[in-house]
Amino acid sequence: MAQIAVSVQEGEQQQFDQGVTVADALKELVSNKQRKQTIAAKVNGTAVDLTTPLTEDAEIAPILISSDEGLDILRHSTSHIMALAVKRLYGDSVKVAIGPSIADGFYYDFEKEKAFSPEDFEAIENKMAEIVAERLPFTREVLSKQDAIALFESLGETYKVELLNDMEEETVSIYKQDAFTDLCRGPHLPDSSWLKVFKLLRVAGSYWRGDENKQMLTRIYGTAFTDKKELKKYLNRIEEAKKRDHRKIGKELGLFTIQDEVGPGLILWQPQGALLRKLIEDYWKEEHYKHGYELLYTPHIARQDLWKTSGHLDFYGENMYSAMEIDDVMYQLKPMNCPFHIGVYNSNKHSYREFPIRWCELGTVYRYERTGALHGLMRVRGFTQDDAHIFCRPDQLEDEIFNIIDLNLLILRTFGFDDYDVYLSTRPEKYVGSDEHWELSTNALKQALDKKGLHYEIDPGEGVFYGPKIDIKIKDQIGRSWQCSTIQVDFNLPERFTMSYTGEDGAEHQPIMIHRALMGSLERFIGVLIEHYAGAFPLWMAPEQARIMNITDDQSEYCEKVFNQLRQAGIRISKDLRNEKLNYKIREAQMRKISYMLIVGEREKEDGTITVRMRDGKNLPPMLPEQFVEWVQKECEEAKG
Ligand SMILES: [Zn+2]
Ligand SMILES: [Zn+2]
Repeated sequence: MAQIAVSVQEGEQQQFDQGVTVADALKELVSNKQRKQTIAAKVNGTAVDLTTPLTEDAEIAPILISSDEGLDILRHSTSHIMALAVKRLYGDSVKVAIGPSIADGFYYDFEKEKAFSPEDFEAIENKMAEIVAERLPFTREVLSKQDAIALFESLGETYKVELLNDMEEETVSIYKQDAFTDLCRGPHLPDSSWLKVFKLLRVAGSYWRGDENKQMLTRIYGTAFTDKKELKKYLNRIEEAKKRDHRKIGKELGLFTIQDEVGPGLILWQPQGALLRKLIEDYWKEEHYKHGYELLYTPHIARQDLWKTSGHLDFYGENMYSAMEIDDVMYQLKPMNCPFHIGVYNSNKHSYREFPIRWCELGTVYRYERTGALHGLMRVRGFTQDDAHIFCRPDQLEDEIFNIIDLNLLILRTFGFDDYDVYLSTRPEKYVGSDEHWELSTNALKQALDKKGLHYEIDPGEGVFYGPKIDIKIKDQIGRSWQCSTIQVDFNLPERFTMSYTGEDGAEHQPIMIHRALMGSLERFIGVLIEHYAGAFPLWMAPEQARIMNITDDQSEYCEKVFNQLRQAGIRISKDLRNEKLNYKIREAQMRKISYMLIVGEREKEDGTITVRMRDGKNLPPMLPEQFVEWVQKECEEAKG
């Protein structure tokens, strides 16, 4: 029999009979201990089941159940086990749609006449436990697309048939587990006994393929872990996340509102939210000014032809809103600010001496998102990017990237984010620009990251078609990741808009363009901030820094005087002089997450002081109003350090 050479990463090669399974090869290649944790493997880079036969020389990387990929496989397999449990309980009255793993868990969409409710969970979980005890293997089969269609038609699984009809592949794989068959790429756990810790979490309605015009399905979300403690930690986090939900806090603090009459995904900022946003914008503008940026303002619509030149109509058209006719010319809302900044660039001739040019704008853009995908401030249809474009020479690229990262981390730190993951995405399969360009810019990104001493992961092939990029995901107070910052090099737009500058050699050259957004969008970033701080913002960005309150009516006049004095001094202050008990006023101020409560009784009135009560209930010694102003200014300055 023919022999093949197999090894685990960096290990020694061993000879095996061709057709040996991954599991059998691993018996010889890795320790028993490691094998007991292995649920699947990457063979020459592709994730496969342990039962897969090896047909050629291979390098194997075992996938351990506790790794990120392992957890993903565990959770996806759990979705199959849940679907089997549902099939056993409800038989053919339920049709299956899709059941992927997602961040922190999995879901499965079902068609069922009466939608699932959490009351059904116990029965389903019990059935799942039975399936786990049965140690049912996941068996894979490869079929022609036609046979697969016939199979799912015979099972009455019309959603799978629809998926198959849309697939281009000639052969597909299915996974069987007892009475449940799924159209699936895999890989999966060897058998159901690997599932030890799982829980069904919630139900939601979901349209088939996310399309409101299609069938409404019933979705069950769940999760699985390798360890009970991890599940407990996760459940605590969900509880904590509910308390911090920015939609709930946004309402309580009067920050923003979304109304049907205005339209879904369109934000109305209420006064407190508008103030919060202004404070963030002011800080952003100051910091950009210090870092050598100039500010631009550009319109919300442009002639359709501009979006043709930029390529947005071709590559991004489905995210753009329909055109409108003005004086027989078609216009469209902007999904991005870039072409406008290029317009500013092209309004003048440029020389290499002016570079780098750094232009920033808080630019409001409009992008189509499905109604079902909209979510508070996190996913909207109109949002303001903290956008900037840098135009530079090739020899300046690395320094510019370094400067952007520097400013990026400074701004994130000021907002209270010290923990982040950095990704570098390289050239995808489809791309524009020369290989030389790609190499130059990818190296510039790498070197800037290295120089900054940042640890980063490479996402091979995940760059944009016009250039490589750096993405930064921040971690919030309760450990969730949010994609915010992105830095992208672009060779495409300078070409499309025939941008140029006169070089040192007197000839015309094409500038390099960098797109970057640090917060991403103000809407989403403020959503993240609300959840990160649970509404208790640091003093420098708190819309309501202090609230003054009297103990009895006798101090009303004095309170008014102090209120005016502090407001003149720039303190963001409100007053509560109602004839209510002090405790009641304090409780209300605490609900509003106000940083300082300024309490005034007879003694304060006589001494010309205020007693400052902090959010946590501690009191500072009585102080003069002007001392309080200094106190606040110092705290704000330190935070922006
Ligand atoms: Zn599957
Ligand atoms: Zn741009």
